[in-house]
Parts: sequence; structure tokens; C-alpha cells
Amino acid sequence: MYNCGPTVYDWQHIGNLYSYIVADVVRRTFEYFGFEVKQVMNITDVGHTVDDVDEAEDKMEIAAKRERKDPLDLAATYTKQFIVDRHKLNILDPEVMPKATDHIPQMIELIQRLLDKGNAYVAADGVYFDITTFPGYGTRLNAEPPDERKAGARVEVNANKRHPFDFALWRAAKPNDLQQWDSPWGRGNPGWHIECSAMSMKYLGETFDIHSGGEDHLFPHHECEIAQSEAATGKRFVDYWMHVRFLRVEGQGMHKSIGNTYLLSQIEEWGYDPLAFRLLALGSGYRKPLDFTRAGMDAAQSRLERWRRTIAAAYTATGGKTTEPEPDFGVRAGFTSALAEDFNTPKALAAAEMALELAGTDDVATRERALWLLFDMDRVFGLSLQESAATKEELTEEARRLVHEREDARRAGDYAKSDRLRVELLERHGIQVKDTKDGTRWERVAPRERDHGRV
Ligand code: AMP
Ligand code: ZN
Repeated sequence: MYNCGPTVYDWQHIGNLYSYIVADVVRRTFEYFGFEVKQVMNITDVGHTVDDVDEAEDKMEIAAKRERKDPLDLAATYTKQFIVDRHKLNILDPEVMPKATDHIPQMIELIQRLLDKGNAYVAADGVYFDITTFPGYGTRLNAEPPDERKAGARVEVNANKRHPFDFALWRAAKPNDLQQWDSPWGRGNPGWHIECSAMSMKYLGETFDIHSGGEDHLFPHHECEIAQSEAATGKRFVDYWMHVRFLRVEGQGMHKSIGNTYLLSQIEEWGYDPLAFRLLALGSGYRKPLDFTRAGMDAAQSRLERWRRTIAAAYTATGGKTTEPEPDFGVRAGFTSALAEDFNTPKALAAAEMALELAGTDDVATRERALWLLFDMDRVFGLSLQESAATKEELTEEARRLVHEREDARRAGDYAKSDRLRVELLERHGIQVKDTKDGTRWERVAPRERDHGRV
């Protein structure tokens, strides 16, 4: 799968990050169901123009001049920051993260193929794709242009284009362009759309399974990618397109002018756990817009904390033991069918709530199964549920093994062994085990008590 990646001219805001959480959930879902996923996400460090208008300036160019930095340094800084944010959100690393500036030869080659086939032409200010050579151009994804685009829709009259909707594959360099390369058509820089076609096909082949992006990419970005890729190869480009509906803030689109293009660091400053934002995202589902509100974040934060508390308590009660329930166990089936239903994460969270209810009961065997389910579900949710349980309880791998071994010995009636392990746990690990009617419980004892115990 190929995810359209960030344009690294600035910080990625929570809307951008939201789209990568969705992509991550898609990847994790396939892996959960046993598929092997090759995930590619590009880094756009050249070519993305303002408002996707061919004649407008490159976003990297503007930012580099504003910050008086080399474009590649600027790209490196924001890419690094982006990766830090991804990790805070438990977004797994793609297998390949290709940079556009490392793939200029592949783009030139693809443009040449289009010229050779008569789908493109060389003009005074660059190379353009001739949309009249690709029947159905702009209609493949059933894109309803977003309102903002409709309002701002404008086709610049460019006398170099044969048709006003022809789009740039290569743009001739302007004298002070910071990023420019040699090409058969003179010095210049690539169009944004050709980057994604060239990089996705290089790493995934001429036809691949899934291509994703935000809803703004339906048109022009992805329609252009389809036209140029299929015109060049004569093959179907992508089997499934996925577009995330936008994250909005308190019911409004994000705009620098409103000052609501929040960053993850802002959310953290407000006192939220980044994973509460991930939980908020999971509660939305990618097919409808996510409304980001402070009230929604408050609710997500307390939900996460409640989950952690319940899990930590259950974990203590079972001594960290989990037991896999039968495959047809109701909650488990509910979870898998929710995900299989177009990645219905809100429904999957509802299944997790049922598992949490079981985790909160008094019956240890039930709790063990509930924990197993929650940790299994977390392979898709990515909320570090297992870590939060283990961190709170600080039970080492070794101690956990001894607790289980002792419990097995006790069940088998080998009291000599269970007593020996009880002493070992207390003296070597500071863990006091107790046998209750619900099974084995353990607690950490304070160092002074421990010393006393040893005497
Ligand atoms: P960009 O850095 O502008 O190229 O955007 C990176 C990714 O974020 C693209 O897939 C966009 O479609 C997506 N995106 C931008 N704004 C939002 C938003 N408000 N909500 C969700 N995704 C967004
Ligand atoms: Zn793209």
C-alpha cells in the first residue's frame, strides 16, 4: 500500500497526523488478518505547489526562502519532527519512505514514456499531460470537489497549455529556483503528481493494491496519478483507493488564518496523552469527518485512563496471566467482523468495551481471557495497552514467569515447590504473592518490609 506522505515544508498538523493514523490502522488490520503488508509512504520535498496550481510557487521553495534555509535541510528538519510525532502516536514505520528528490531519474523516465506515447507534450514552460488523450480523466474516483475547492476553483489561463486542465509533469526552472535538475527538456523540477506515480510504481509495481490520502487528494492529485500511470503502462494502476475525510476543529476547517492548525505538541501542552488523540481518531471512522473538540479530547483522555486502570487492576489480579479464548468467543468475533466491515473502528472499540467489562469482573479466568482479547485487539488499536498494564505493575519477565510457575505448582499440589518459589519471589524480586479464592494475587512490598522479612 502507498500512502501519500507529508509535504515537509512545515510542521504536520493534527489533520495530517490523523490521516496517517488511519493508514496505520489499515496496515495493522491487514496484518492482524494475516496479510503481509508492504507499506510505502513518500516524503514530498519538491514539487507541491500552493493550491495545486501549476503556475504557483513550490511550497518548499517559499518556506526555504522564508526561513533562509537550504530546502533539503528544511525537509530534513520537518521530516524528523514528523517521525517523532508518528512514534508518539504509535504509528508504525512504513517499509520504505522514499524522498521525491531522490527519485528525479524515475520521474524523468516516466515523463519520457508519456511523451513517446503521445500523452504529453513539451511547451515553453515545461512538459504537460494532454488530458484529451486519456478518456475519463477526472471522473474515475467519483470525486465531489470539497466546498473550499469549488469556491476557490480557478483555472489559470496559461497559453502554453493546449487545454486549460492539462497538468504539469515537469516545470521549467525559474531563474531563482533553489531546487532544479537537468532533464531532456532543460533545467526544471517535477510536478507533484508524477512523483507519487514514479515512487509508488518503483516500490510496488505498475499495479498495486491500496493507495491512500486525504479527501483533498481525490482531485486533482489522484485523478492525475491515475491518468499518467495508466497512460504510461496501459495497465490498471491501483485496485483500491482510500480517502480519509478531513479532521475539522470545533466544526470548522483548519486554516492558518483562523489559528486552528493545531500540532501534536499543542495537544500535549494542554495535558493530553498523544494516544488519547489516537483513541479519538479510532472513535470516528475514516468515512466521516472527525470533529476535533476539547470536549471530545477530554472524553478520549478519560476513556484511555479508564481502560488503563481496568487493565492494570485485572493484570494484577491475574498475576499478568492471559488466556486465549475460543475463536468463536462473542467479543472476539464482534471485533474481527467490525474491522472486516470497512475498518469500522468505532464498532471495534465497542467490542473492546465489552472485553473491558469482562476484565472488571471478579472471576480470574474471565479476566485472563479479557486481557488476552484486549492485548490482541491492541495489535490494531495501537494504544500500548499491554505496556500501560506492565509499566504500572513493574513485573519483570522473570518474576512473571515465577508467579505462573508457582501457581501451576500449587494447582498440581506441589506445595514444596510453590513455597520455594514464594520465598524466591519475595527475596529476589520483592513480590509478595497471596492465594485468594480468586486465585493468585501479588503485590510489591516496600524495601524495609522486605529486609525485615529476610531477617
Ligand atoms: P500535505 O503535507 O499537505 O501533503 O498533507 C499530508 C496528508 O494529510 C495528505 O494525505 C492530506 O490529504 C492529509 N490532510 C491534510 N489536511 C487534513 C485534514 N484536515 N484531515 C485529514 N487529513 C488531512
Ligand atoms: Zn501523492
